[in-house]
Parts: sequence; C-alpha cells; structure tokens
Amino acid sequence: MSTATPTIHLRAGRERSLLRRHPWVFSGAVDRVDGNPAPGATVLVRSSDRTPLGWAAFSPESQIRARMWTFDADQVVGDEFVAAAVTASAERRSLLLGDGRTDSARLVFSEADGVPGLVADRYGDTVVCQFTTAGADAWRDVLADAIAALPGVACVYERSDADVREREGLSARVGLLRGNEPSPDLVAHEDGFRFAVEVTGGHKTGFYLDQRDARRALTGVAAGRRVLNVFSYTGAFSVIAAGRGADSITSIDSSGPALATAARNGTLNGVDVGELMEADAFTALRGLRDRAKQYDLICLDPPKLANNDKQIEKASRAYKDLNLLAVKLLAPGGLLMTWSCSGAMTMDLFQKVVAGAALDAKRDVRIVGRLHQPSDHPVPLPFPEAEYLKGLILEAP
Ligand code: SAH
Repeated sequence: MSTATPTIHLRAGRERSLLRRHPWVFSGAVDRVDGNPAPGATVLVRSSDRTPLGWAAFSPESQIRARMWTFDADQVVGDEFVAAAVTASAERRSLLLGDGRTDSARLVFSEADGVPGLVADRYGDTVVCQFTTAGADAWRDVLADAIAALPGVACVYERSDADVREREGLSARVGLLRGNEPSPDLVAHEDGFRFAVEVTGGHKTGFYLDQRDARRALTGVAAGRRVLNVFSYTGAFSVIAAGRGADSITSIDSSGPALATAARNGTLNGVDVGELMEADAFTALRGLRDRAKQYDLICLDPPKLANNDKQIEKASRAYKDLNLLAVKLLAPGGLLMTWSCSGAMTMDLFQKVVAGAALDAKRDVRIVGRLHQPSDHPVPLPFPEAEYLKGLILEAP
C-alpha cells in the first residue's frame, strides 16, 4: 500500500474493539490521521504497531470518527463492493418479503447490514432512504443506483432529515433520488393489513416498520378488549386491534396529521379505529386517571426519550411517569405493552424502571412477554449498539 493512502493510526491498545469486529473508531482512539482525507473518504485503519485492521468511512466532525466498511484490509472498497453490500442486505430480507402478504421491510440497517450510515426502507415498489453519515453521503449515487436496481423498485426517495446528520456536519436533504415520484397513496401491506406510508411528511421514513413483531403479537390478544393506544402515530396498533375484534379503541397522539392518517388507515382496512385524541400523552393519561377510566389493553410506545447516556436519568423519570399512569389505568387482568426505543436505555434498566412504576401503583404486575425490533433490524453480536427497541408485555392482577 502506498504511503499516500489516507490512514487512521490508532493509539496503543485501542485496536481491541476492532479486533472484536466492533465497527466504530472513536475520536479518542485516534492517534493521528495521515493523508488529509475528505469527509466520507475511505481510510485505512492501522493499529499502533501498524497492523492494517481494515477500511473505514471517515467522519471528521463526529465523535465516531470512522465506521468500518470491512475488517479485511485486502478488500477494495469501491463501487462494486458498496453496491454488493446493498444487494446482499436486500437479499437477506427475501424470506420476510416472500410470504406474499408483506411487501414492506427495512432492506438496509446501517452498520448492522455492513452499510454504515444508510437506512433503506422498502414499501412495495418504493424505497425510502436516510443517509446519516459522511461516508454514506459520499457513496450516495452508488447506493441509490444499487437500490434502484433491486427487482421491482420504481421509486427511490431520500429522507435525510434526521437530527443525527448534524453530528456529522451534514444538512438535511429530502427529495427524489431515482425513478418515479412517490405515490401520495403509498400503502405498506403487512399480514393482510394496509397502512398508509407518509413518505414525504411522516416520521422517519414514513412508517414504523420496527414494530412489526409487536403488531403480530397484538393480533392474538386484542379481541374483546377496551384498548388504549398511547403515542399511536398513524394508528397501526389501533387498526390491528379493530381488525381483531377489540371492544373499543382510543388512540392518543400529539400529531394531528398522524391522527388524520390513523382515520384513513381505518378506512383502508374497513374498520372503525374508534376515538382519536390529539393531546399530550402525559396530560391525557392524567386526565383519564382522574376520571377513573379502565382499559384491558394499553400500548405505550413513546418517542425516543434519551438520545445518549447523559439523558438517561431524566428519561427514566419520564418512562416511569408514563408507565405508572398506564398501570393505574389497567383493568383487572389487563395487559400493558410498553416500549423504549432509546438505544441508551437497556432492557435491564427499562425493566427496573417499569418495576418501580408498578410498585408505586401497588399492582403485582407480571411479565408475560418481551418484544424486540424485528429481523429486518438485526443486531450483530459484536455490535450491541444496534439494539434500540425493547418492550415488555405485562399483565396486571
Ligand atoms: N406506536 C406507533 C409509533 C409511535 S412513534 C406505531 O406503531 O406506528 C411516537 C409518537 O409519539 C409519534 O407519533 C409522535 O407524534 C408522538 N408524540 C411525541 N410526543 C408526544 C407527546 N408528548 N404526547 C403525545 N404524543 C407524542
């Protein structure tokens, strides 16, 4: 390798995590950077004894200074390699998408699928992408071409408007990347249900694919229950509950447009989604408690309340408040499905927080199930940071 190759030299001992195939190089591990790489450039990573450890995407603005493309230093990270990573990742979803009932899945989940900084969600013939790092941005055209070349893809749309781009010094970018404009009537098909996908105006890429396993779990327990769906977004849980014979359904969300889509989702599925409350969930839950309301099934799926370890204490208090209110609203024999989508909150800590809430509510609540992000949001064993969504199914006496 020529001396002109842009290279990150690690400090002594800081190669350990890379040898265990963890894909991040933190700024504190970097001794020096040779060759003046541009943001997103591919750099060789060497240990302090100069052993080549692999190739990474350079992010000069981020605390995560580089993300590994490959741990094979002999690999050439070029158009072919990057495109092949996308194709292989999409191929791993073929079982999930091959059941004839589900046409929507996350095709690429960033580092967890070997394409750091790219999230690509497929809804039928449309793929919505987020480029969250300088490295993914640098390969944007190659990545977009590779996605557009996947069988059946007619539209590739970019929603790179997540906050995380700021940490990389990147500004927001939204718009068509390849093919036709996305349909305003785009629908995700899943297990016989239809969910509107808000590609241009919705959260994330338009729909919460990551709650697929929870939607599946819900189908078996909704019948005959009075359901409260808190942080409902576009009412996916409400639609399932309605379709599976719930007695009554109330959905709470602070977003009016999300609730309007929930109503549309009811129509799309030929069900009555019930009451839609546009409100702050904390306030609404207190109001329901004060009116001594009771529910047989509560879904509690707040947005990310902790972005990092520093916010975990404050977030824990908010999770506790929410879960305390929810447990109090449970009728005897009622179920609470409760989640945290904060990566910084471990399952262990989440369970402790919820236990504290149940204790304060004076209810002997039992765990009867656990929920996780689904198979298209995989967690590589060396990279537990990929795990962010965890939930508990609780039963109250
Ligand atoms: N359960 C949903 C996803 C929830 S995402 C699904 O399966 O599709 C979190 C939701 O919380 C978003 O729709 C957001 O609008 C809403 N939200 C955020 N803060 C809120 C608050 N304080 N009160 C009520 N809803 C809130």
